[in-house]
Amino acid sequence: MTGVDNSEFEAARARMVELLIEQDRVTDPAVIDALQTVPRHKFVPEQHRASAYTDRPLPIGDEQTISAPHMVAIMTELLDLSPGQTVLEIGTGRGYHAAVVAELVGGENVYTVEYSAELASRARERFSELEYDISVRIGDGRDGWPEQAPFQASYLTCAPASLPEAIPEQVVSGGRIVAPIGRGSQTLYRYIKQDDGSLKRDSHGSVRFVPLR
Ligand code: SAH
Repeated sequence: MTGVDNSEFEAARARMVELLIEQDRVTDPAVIDALQTVPRHKFVPEQHRASAYTDRPLPIGDEQTISAPHMVAIMTELLDLSPGQTVLEIGTGRGYHAAVVAELVGGENVYTVEYSAELASRARERFSELEYDISVRIGDGRDGWPEQAPFQASYLTCAPASLPEAIPEQVVSGGRIVAPIGRGSQTLYRYIKQDDGSLKRDSHGSVRFVPLR
């Protein structure tokens, strides 16, 4: 990649973030910084690079999509992260969202589970190229990542019919979980784990994610 290309991508990224701020999609300065830092064009397939900084989902192969930047922004804000907190992601995809989260908490604190071995291996390549120390496990996200639990926060980038039990079990009390829930029509929920282990949830509108496989 030439320097010219890179500065064009940087300018496009800065415009995209400006737009998200104008549209009130993102307000937390740390999340804004993260969106400004992560090179989304490196996480999308070559043929979609020119669209990397338009605010829409893009195909990433295997019938999966990388979420639109505003959705990554909204979900990341809802997680309410601070540096050093540990985070579990279900649905690595190409790894863009995990990289945004890594900017907030540190890559060594991000654990992500991906069903597709091919997508997981592409994400791993990207993480190592860009020096994100993010851990990827190939498997069924329904199980979470028990060996690394507990986490301060978790989120799903694919939609289950209902929240898999392992996720709240692996989150600390006071921890946040953000997930699209439903088959067909989906709602984005944020759950907060209470001291007695129960979950309080609030709704953040209708969304469209690929189904959890
Ligand atoms: N956040 C990603 C996009 C994720 S798309 C990015 O930024 O690129 C949703 C992902 O969830 C897909 O990669 C899909 O393979 C994965 N997925 C679907 N069902 C899953 C399951 N049961 N366990 C783990 N990952 C799953």
